Amino acid sequence: MAFKPANNIQDLQYFGEFGGVNPSISDSSTYTFLSAKTMFDTFEGNADGCYLYSRHSSPSNLYLGEALAAMEGTETANVTASGMGAITPVIMQLCGAGDHVVSSRTIYGGTYAFLKNFAPRFNINTTFVDITKLDVVEAAITPNTKVLYCESVSNPLLEVADIASLAKLAKKHNLKLIVDNTFSPLSISPVQLGADIVIHSLTKFINGSSDTVGGVVCGTQEFINDLRNVNDGACMLLGATMDSLRAASVLKNLRTLHIRMQQHSLNATYLAEKFEALGLKTVYPGLASHPSHDLFKSMMNEKYGFGGMLTIDVGSLDKANALMELMQEKNLGYLAVSLGFYKTLFSAPGSSTSSEIPEDEQKEMGLSDGLIRFSIGLDADIERTFNIMHACMKELNIL
Ligand code: PLP
Repeated sequence: MAFKPANNIQDLQYFGEFGGVNPSISDSSTYTFLSAKTMFDTFEGNADGCYLYSRHSSPSNLYLGEALAAMEGTETANVTASGMGAITPVIMQLCGAGDHVVSSRTIYGGTYAFLKNFAPRFNINTTFVDITKLDVVEAAITPNTKVLYCESVSNPLLEVADIASLAKLAKKHNLKLIVDNTFSPLSISPVQLGADIVIHSLTKFINGSSDTVGGVVCGTQEFINDLRNVNDGACMLLGATMDSLRAASVLKNLRTLHIRMQQHSLNATYLAEKFEALGLKTVYPGLASHPSHDLFKSMMNEKYGFGGMLTIDVGSLDKANALMELMQEKNLGYLAVSLGFYKTLFSAPGSSTSSEIPEDEQKEMGLSDGLIRFSIGLDADIERTFNIMHACMKELNIL
């Protein structure tokens, strides 16, 4: 039977303290115990259902975590204060000094900077590879490799990872496959394809209102317990905990994710087809011209489409900047980083979200100066949006 992530979210029932249709918010950092023995047992991890302290877990964070675990089809999940607050503890939990990571080279700039510049301080080193070339990925694995890391749809180049094949490689070499699924929630379900751990920046599509940062790690109960362990759990000890009030608000937004993803995908497909027809170099996994179009199709939960992210290349950074400024002036969207908002967001990744990647490496991976990354919004009338964008491009002699 097909995996139905939105049904899994919808089928959860959490009531509030007085029969409220939303769960009560746990507005406390600490919890009383009726007996000292139960407090001791809780610290030892032997008192199910008891809360210790909200950096460890809180009822509101558990509700949100369970809903995200239902979406990804994992045993459980742990929510964190940001996407980076999910990515960094997972890597630190799985790797120690001397260990090695094989990572896609086209990943979010912050993740790249962490692996490239920060993790080596702990003697955790990374080989960056073209994740679409399985032979190159396998050749990079060493006896010290512990983790295979990728994004299902990469930021910003929209390369698509062949998760099932990567999972086979990971199994063969006894590695954990970590997939950042921030760009394709609901559309792709990495654990169903064999990934071990799925991460999201909730900041983006999942929360969808650009009013907070947040993250989640979805995985097995055993791994999430490890992350929360009071003695050596990276989430517990590094402390990037989400606040309960935020967890409650993200949970409410999660319930409309399926409708939003459908509209993001519909609008992005419309624009991508129009841009390509104008002769613009357009990258969108939903286009037949995308090198991994068939792969995406074979992995996707069809209903949610190919997602809201697309890129065009307008030839130079100056042109990209002029177009973005004009589009903002015409109220087509905002010149802003991030994604998943109701309004279209656009930025030039080479000088913003991927600026951590050195220029020569950007060139090698195909990240050109004139690239504009769009997170397409929920526009009610995408035809009108296109017509105004088209006029902007003509005005700037981009076409
Ligand atoms: N992963 C991806 C694919 C991202 O695009 C981002 C942020 O842009 C992150 C992770 C980091 O998330 P956060 O900003 O919530 O820490």
